[in-house]
Amino acid sequence: HVWETQVRQSCLPKKSEGLIVLVTGAAGFVGTHVSLALKKRGDGVLGIDNFNSYYEVSLKRARQELLEKQEIFIIEDDINNKELLKVLFDLIQFTHLMHLAAQAGVRYAMQNPGSYVHSNIAGFVTLLEACKDASPQPAIVWASSSSVYGLNSKVPFSESDRTDQPASLYAATKKAGEEIAHTYNHIYGLSITGLRFFTVYGPWGRPDMAYFSFTRDILKGKPISIFQGANKQDLARDFTYIDDVVKGCMASLDTAGKSTGSGGKKKGPAPLRIFNLGNTSPVTVPNLVSILEKYLKVKAKKNTIKMPRNGDVPFTHANVSLAHAQLGYNPTTNLDVGLKRFVKWYLSYHGLEPSLKSQRS
Ligand code: NAD
Repeated sequence: HVWETQVRQSCLPKKSEGLIVLVTGAAGFVGTHVSLALKKRGDGVLGIDNFNSYYEVSLKRARQELLEKQEIFIIEDDINNKELLKVLFDLIQFTHLMHLAAQAGVRYAMQNPGSYVHSNIAGFVTLLEACKDASPQPAIVWASSSSVYGLNSKVPFSESDRTDQPASLYAATKKAGEEIAHTYNHIYGLSITGLRFFTVYGPWGRPDMAYFSFTRDILKGKPISIFQGANKQDLARDFTYIDDVVKGCMASLDTAGKSTGSGGKKKGPAPLRIFNLGNTSPVTVPNLVSILEKYLKVKAKKNTIKMPRNGDVPFTHANVSLAHAQLGYNPTTNLDVGLKRFVKWYLSYHGLEPSLKSQRS
């Protein structure tokens, strides 16, 4: 393969005990940050991403550029490509799989349901099959979602709460992933850790998410739509800053156990874990907008409308005591601080603040 040298180079850890991690969705928001953090501490990292056009491909290319500067290589392909995965697992002894590729977004599922099944269900199974056949078997950490809590009304959300009422197809595919993880752990002894992320935000974030699209529209002077739930209740999210999530991902990889012998013949049961990675302090959408207005120095034009049945849930709120106890997870960035950093990045990335623009080049 033309990329063999680049793949080997990218996967080389700085120290012998360093991890060798295959990161799916590496050109995505979370994948970019996790890949950089791993490389920075000396682990070997290889990315895979299909650069789909769910949101601006140019942003994914810019993230790729950022990774390439740190000698992280991304293979441009689909996680459903079995032959490619076989070649990669034969070439490199990955200690871990960090699986972040997915079709994200709850509303888009009504337009393109097939892409959720393809990436979130079929894609996950294809990867698990490749991991089960690999020798050694890599330990797996993957992104589930707070959306599995669905229409649960008990707050805060704990891992043991019911997850049988998904409000969107996206949520249903993440829930399916959790069940599939159970099967592969049970039959093949794969070590699998699922992370339920809660509305992750920050620099290099996703343009389809409210904090990002609000920023874009406020700066353009376009009105923004703020949804309200039943009885004019404001929607609230447990916004979680990317650096806190990255720390949770790293701790999950470090505690997932190194690769196991193939065929599940190792001593003791392989771990099957699930953790909330949230911030524990939900903020309403109007409050999010006020913080953006403060840092953008522009007043938003707001339309407040009743929430349609589009897959959104009225609120999310994480209990992170399990992740705290087992991973040392301790989110420290509040929304004000995190959005200040996001706005700074946004302006710089779009060349809207000359003093910052020069730092990018
Ligand atoms: P993202 O869309 O920025 O990243 C996902 C990446 O995966 C994209 O670059 C996309 O091109 C790639 N991809 C999608 N399908 C693929 C396929 N079939 N083959 C190869 N590549 C594919 O999303 P993100 O915000 O970085 O999310 C990362 C993970 O975390 C996802 O699994 C997502 O569902 C989950 N998650 C994110 C949030 C959040 O708030 N950002 C919250 C809960 C869960």
